[in-house]
Amino acid sequence: MSTKQEVETIKEVMNSNDEEAQKNIEKFNQHNVFSMDFLGAVGSGKTLLIEELIKRTNKKIGVFAGDQDSAFDAGRFDDYDVPVIGLSTGMSCHLDSYLVEDALDDMPLDDLDWVIIENVGNIVCPTGFKLGTHARVVIVSVTEGDDIVEKHPPTIEAGDVIIINKIDVADAVEVDVNKMVEDAQKINPDAIVIPTSLKTGENIDKVIEALENLSKQ
Ligand code: MG
Ligand code: ZN
Repeated sequence: MSTKQEVETIKEVMNSNDEEAQKNIEKFNQHNVFSMDFLGAVGSGKTLLIEELIKRTNKKIGVFAGDQDSAFDAGRFDDYDVPVIGLSTGMSCHLDSYLVEDALDDMPLDDLDWVIIENVGNIVCPTGFKLGTHARVVIVSVTEGDDIVEKHPPTIEAGDVIIINKIDVADAVEVDVNKMVEDAQKINPDAIVIPTSLKTGENIDKVIEALENLSKQ
């Protein structure tokens, strides 16, 4: 159990993180950049989705790679002509708005349409830390089990777009994709829920359409 003092300290940390996040979103606005935070477990498809967006859209995209495999992930972007900045969290299981703020000056915002922040591979902890982005994209995969959505309401509630990835292997892992979609819609009726296979390309066009629509708002 937490003491009252510990609870107060946690509240202060969260409040100051939110204030800093507000500054980040203002900075994105000043430069006419639409920013997104990609949130999901290790292996859910965050990096692959970013690669597909770089390849398939005409948006000029900058990437903050916060995943703890960022050295590895950042290398995956070498083939594309996009700015990629690794955010090192040390041992931490989430990014926060201060880490993003520190790195924002190194990102050539005036040359970009979109900035995507790949959060640390963790479906739980990053949820509570706003980074100061315009939208959050939550990615889960069917290999995490068809109860992964219903078990994580706060994360699902935080998403503007919820992607249920790897539907090409749903039968093999005996997962009901419809159940996952329904769970997500029940928890977050405002979210756009899209089942995808980033590997085969199924429904990537729908993801792009959803993100482009959000970026126009
Ligand atoms: Mg990754
Ligand atoms: Zn954490």
